[in-house]
Amino acid sequence: MREVDVLIVGGGPGGLTAGMYAARAKLNTLCLEKMMPGGQIANTHLVEDYPGFESISGPDLAQKFESHARKFGLEIANDNVSKIKPDGRFWVVEADNDSYRAKAVIIATGGQPRKLGIPGELEFAGKGVSYCAICDGAFFKGEVIAVIGGGDSAVEEGIFLTRFASKLYIVHRRDQLRAQKIIQDRARANPKIEFIWDSVPVEIKGAEKVQSLVVKNLKSGEHRTLSVGAVFPFIGFVPNSDLFDVEITRDPNGYIITNENMETSLKGVYAIGDVRKQLCKQVTNAVGDGTTAAVAADKYIEAWGD
Ligand code: NAP
Repeated sequence: MREVDVLIVGGGPGGLTAGMYAARAKLNTLCLEKMMPGGQIANTHLVEDYPGFESISGPDLAQKFESHARKFGLEIANDNVSKIKPDGRFWVVEADNDSYRAKAVIIATGGQPRKLGIPGELEFAGKGVSYCAICDGAFFKGEVIAVIGGGDSAVEEGIFLTRFASKLYIVHRRDQLRAQKIIQDRARANPKIEFIWDSVPVEIKGAEKVQSLVVKNLKSGEHRTLSVGAVFPFIGFVPNSDLFDVEITRDPNGYIITNENMETSLKGVYAIGDVRKQLCKQVTNAVGDGTTAAVAADKYIEAWGD
């Protein structure tokens, strides 16, 4: 079992920032990431609301976070955490490749796309159903695409997908978007985008791959079949907060509750970024949370004693 001072679970912007601060404070720090460092921004086409970068591609920003953290000595290992449990004052983190014991654990696990839960969604996953525009958009060049949702992700990724789509539907369950006004304005000005208001998807149909999407108008009850080659649901987010074998305080949606120092209900455990309950889910929030958690963990470890 490996021993460290601070173990960070998740290598997105929050985790990498916490790692940078903790490593720079000379704490023995390890960040575990199950896929590629960078988190959700690694799959985001463009980031234009991270201060200091008027417009930068998501993968480029992710790369900058990673190299900056490594420069100060952060070690990043590829491992998939399955369980976190107490061991006296320590925490034991079990993962696929190894087990780790840490004085402090920072949970930076983010979350995953919420599923539609309709017939055809699982069947056609990877055959026209995708949750990542930057990963899969180019597969649907010249095709009609449907995006589901009315938030920032749906509208922003929808705009990106018009690079490939011959036409793009945004199917939203209300007649008003949740997305920021600036993003809405861009979508409304895009001639390839047609909004399908007050409607929810009820079934994805196809053969080898997606061929159509059936939507239901919630006001009239009418069903309509849209001929589409791909469906991209962007209907929100489910936090990855299920790792503990002891009770950690969460809200009814599963978000971990922290105080202003990112401390959770478990001593020595901090939660940052999209996995914790807070108003915004922006890179800037995750980065600020990561800073606070690293400083709080440093103070906690300093007071640890022998
Ligand atoms: P979100 O803001 O929670 O929006 C989810 C959208 O999906 C909403 O429009 C919601 O409808 C709809 N929806 C939810 N459940 C549904 C269901 N079962 N069936 C049909 N529609 C459903 O999620 P998000 O867009 O992924 O954004 C998550 C967070 O990341 C937000 O805080 C957002 O601001 C942030 N973000 C920011 C940026 C940026 O600043 N550039 C980019 C991406 C994401 P209702 O509106 O009716 O609830």
